[in-house]
Amino acid sequence: MKPIYDAWLIQIEITNACGKKCAYCTRAVPHFKNPYFAEMTFIESALQSLRGWKRGVGCMGGEPTLHPEFKKICSLYRNYFPKKQCGIFTSGGPLYEKYKNLINETFGTIHYHNHATPSYHQPIMVASEEIISDTALRNELIRDCWLQRKWCPAISKKGCFFCEVAATFDLLFDGPGGYRMEPGWWKKKEAEFSDQVERYCRLCSVPIPLGSFPDTNPYDYVSPGNAERLLKAQSPLAARNGLRIFNKTITREKIRELRNSPLYRDPGHYGQRDKTNFFRKSPLILKIKTNNIKHEIVHCLKTGDLRGFFRTLKSGSLR
Ligand code: SF4
Ligand code: SF4
Repeated sequence: MKPIYDAWLIQIEITNACGKKCAYCTRAVPHFKNPYFAEMTFIESALQSLRGWKRGVGCMGGEPTLHPEFKKICSLYRNYFPKKQCGIFTSGGPLYEKYKNLINETFGTIHYHNHATPSYHQPIMVASEEIISDTALRNELIRDCWLQRKWCPAISKKGCFFCEVAATFDLLFDGPGGYRMEPGWWKKKEAEFSDQVERYCRLCSVPIPLGSFPDTNPYDYVSPGNAERLLKAQSPLAARNGLRIFNKTITREKIRELRNSPLYRDPGHYGQRDKTNFFRKSPLILKIKTNNIKHEIVHCLKTGDLRGFFRTLKSGSLR
């Protein structure tokens, strides 16, 4: 797996409140009974723990502009990191409009996706340990998880995590918390975060090519064990009968079949398919994107994934 220090950006989750409540959200927004707003001291400690980090520093929710101290949070980001390093991830809305100038002054990268049209998300809560009994296959898929390769580690109020989705599981399912927010926690390589991989990846379906579904769906696909965990967590979506149980067995042959199906939407569209979804490209982001493409090509060659290799070359984009 990619070392944490090789990620293009580390997210700081300042809140998990969001009015959109999309299905299959990686923050599991529809499943949280009581959203939280991080304390200023927490946000400052998170920023301090990234001292020396030269890549992106994300401001993420939920919807970050909903945080009642959003103006002060912007000042904190400016105190600790130059604009070109700071990125915000927003779904827009009246508060985004209100703070637009401040956002433009603070963040060099603005990832804006207002979900005005449905976008497609992959379910995250079909636990691989429940549907894949072949341990070798499960571990292979996890070690090759596209989201871990392309997306971000995260700091949530429970601590520091090698993957944003792992942070979500820990918070939702009352896990033991992440690594301490101490300077340099992000210098870990795979062997140093294997405890988190072991704890959270088995609960997750991101590396399984189950396909992507409209985020407007009023339900979530979950495995039986995760359905129980969600009921225990008093998920509002579970309480509204919004869980669809997925318990089909997935084998190596099935994985091949799913990947070759014309209905399969490659997760490479992540952040790129929807016209309302854009990056304002700073030189930093362009550089990171180029590095990610190089990383992807090397990965495809190493794993013999010729399909992925040619697709990456052809599209110049990520798998
Ligand atoms: S807008 Fe983003 S954070 Fe909010 S529910 Fe949708 S995917 Fe989750
Ligand atoms: S399997 Fe899930 S928790 Fe593990 S790295 Fe992938 S997205 Fe993160």
